[in-house]
Amino acid sequence: MTTQSLTNAKDFILAGNATFTILNETTGGRFTYKVMANKSESGPSHFVKLLTGSNNEADYTYLGCVWDSKTYSHGRKSSIGRDATSAKALTWAFPRIIGGKLPECVKVFHEGRCGRCGRKLTVPESIESGFGPECVRLMGGSPAPVKAKPAVKAPEHSLSDALAEINAQYGVCPDGCCGDERLTESQRAEWRSKQEGARRMYLKVA
Ligand SMILES: [Zn+2]
Repeated sequence: MTTQSLTNAKDFILAGNATFTILNETTGGRFTYKVMANKSESGPSHFVKLLTGSNNEADYTYLGCVWDSKTYSHGRKSSIGRDATSAKALTWAFPRIIGGKLPECVKVFHEGRCGRCGRKLTVPESIESGFGPECVRLMGGSPAPVKAKPAVKAPEHSLSDALAEINAQYGVCPDGCCGDERLTESQRAEWRSKQEGARRMYLKVA
């Protein structure tokens, strides 16, 4: 299988027929997802599945939805719990991929197939970009915008989301395990106090 770390992961994962792997280089954790455009007029813009078996062509399980090509939410009907690492990893990574704010220790790889049509990539430039020559042309050099649809519900927000968000603001890993060495003394103090604040807020509410 040909894999390649994507520089423009956002366009790839929303292109309509994208299979990609998210790798956390610090923990070695990796999960493979498939994000397919919803061809129907209503509902989410994309459906998300998780690779759950050894057959990387067929063994995918429904995980959640993308709304309006912007927001990912875990599927209530998914057989995978929202607290599963595979589910939490995407809930964490999705907004960071969309916002171009993935920490350096987390990489997105394609699995050797075009993000738009799913066909196998062979040309080096295609492997680099994640799109076959025909799809690049059809997208006019850049991926086609996916039709905007109204979001049906706002995603739930939890303490771990809040902490991950704070970490992302400071370019620190979701678990706070790396990246803070780049911060200055005062930035780190600020980062810590924001985390404390979030903990107090969420624990009080809960
Ligand atoms: Zn293609």
